[in-house]
Amino acid sequence: MSTDLPAHRTSGIPLRHAVEALPPYVPGARTEPGARTFKLSSNENPYPPLPSVLEAIREGAGDTHRYPDMYATELTEAIAASLTQEAASRGSAVTVSPDEVVVGTGSVAVLAHVLQTVCEPGDEVVVPWRSFEAYPIAVAVSGATFVPVPLASGPDADGTLLDGRLDLRALAAAIGERTRVVAVCTPNNPTGPAVHRAELEAFLAAVPSDVLVLLDEAYVEFVRDPEAPDGLAVYAAHPNVVVLRTFSKAYGLAGLRVGYALARPDLAAGVRSVSTPFGVSDLAQRAALASLRAQDELLERVEALVVERARVVGELGAQGWEIPDAQGNFVWFGLGDATLQRGAEAREAGVLVRPFAGEGIRVTIGEHEANDAFLQVAASWRR
Ligand SMILES: *Cc1c(COP(=O)(O)O)cnc(C)c1O
Repeated sequence: MSTDLPAHRTSGIPLRHAVEALPPYVPGARTEPGARTFKLSSNENPYPPLPSVLEAIREGAGDTHRYPDMYATELTEAIAASLTQEAASRGSAVTVSPDEVVVGTGSVAVLAHVLQTVCEPGDEVVVPWRSFEAYPIAVAVSGATFVPVPLASGPDADGTLLDGRLDLRALAAAIGERTRVVAVCTPNNPTGPAVHRAELEAFLAAVPSDVLVLLDEAYVEFVRDPEAPDGLAVYAAHPNVVVLRTFSKAYGLAGLRVGYALARPDLAAGVRSVSTPFGVSDLAQRAALASLRAQDELLERVEALVVERARVVGELGAQGWEIPDAQGNFVWFGLGDATLQRGAEAREAGVLVRPFAGEGIRVTIGEHEANDAFLQVAASWRR
């Protein structure tokens, strides 16, 4: 972070080395006021809040001179009940109690708090890469060392395309003496595939019991791969697994910042103790509660997006694209050196996408019209 500031505007205070070396978080491009553009750059939900959720936010607006409930008691209880019900609906007897749930200002914040809870300086955090760009930042800030492990690539023995899948064997092999945490992002942002039950179980059997496995399920509601694991069952069977979930994607509350971790009570208490006091606003707590009450309605919207995803993937196939299995609300194009050029072309055509320089482009599944606009761009990329 070298600055070109004039001397009278600098503090003279040296920054931590880890902070100086931080890669910037690149947010998805924003639409410009008035311009006719579709924003498919940040994996947001294209649907606005439900009327019942808006009403809950309006009701809370008059209370903003008060601090929120620091432990988000009602929300935490509702999340625990909802997860228990989710397990029961799959015929599982897993129960989740409120002392296993820690909320935060988005699961990005909870992720950082988990790392700050368990990592000493110089400890290692093993992360699949390319994956969620908040990971290297959160690891560096925690004082730990980021150990990236490349994703799989090429066809497997059956000729199935592996590109964009996590390489769980390589992840397990990268775990060493100093490893405290290993991340499993499923489905992987930005590439799309979910891990499979069998490979995850083999992986968990290979991970030492004192290494925390962070199962990031930010997009779990969008997963339709029949071989995908049941995250709650995995959590119940493995005390060292922490599950991360969020209200930002399927529940459409990205702007209110609320997500949570599911962890054994001792670990959850540690994470709570490093969390920013009163971090999750009362408006966010109310909106998340209202969203849990309107879960069925919200999951219908998710289903509509999954149908759109299938349509987009089908059309892309017809255009001749081979893309990784899309299990989130986004698709991935490994465009390599052509990435920035293609991203600029999409922007010209009024579609904002998320380029990762030199690697590829992630495109969010949006509303029907936005997806149509993007499909035209994708067709033009092939010419
Ligand atoms: C979006 C996302 C999150 C969560 O984001 P928040 O808005 O902070 O809850 C977490 N993990 C991954 C992989 C994501 O893509």
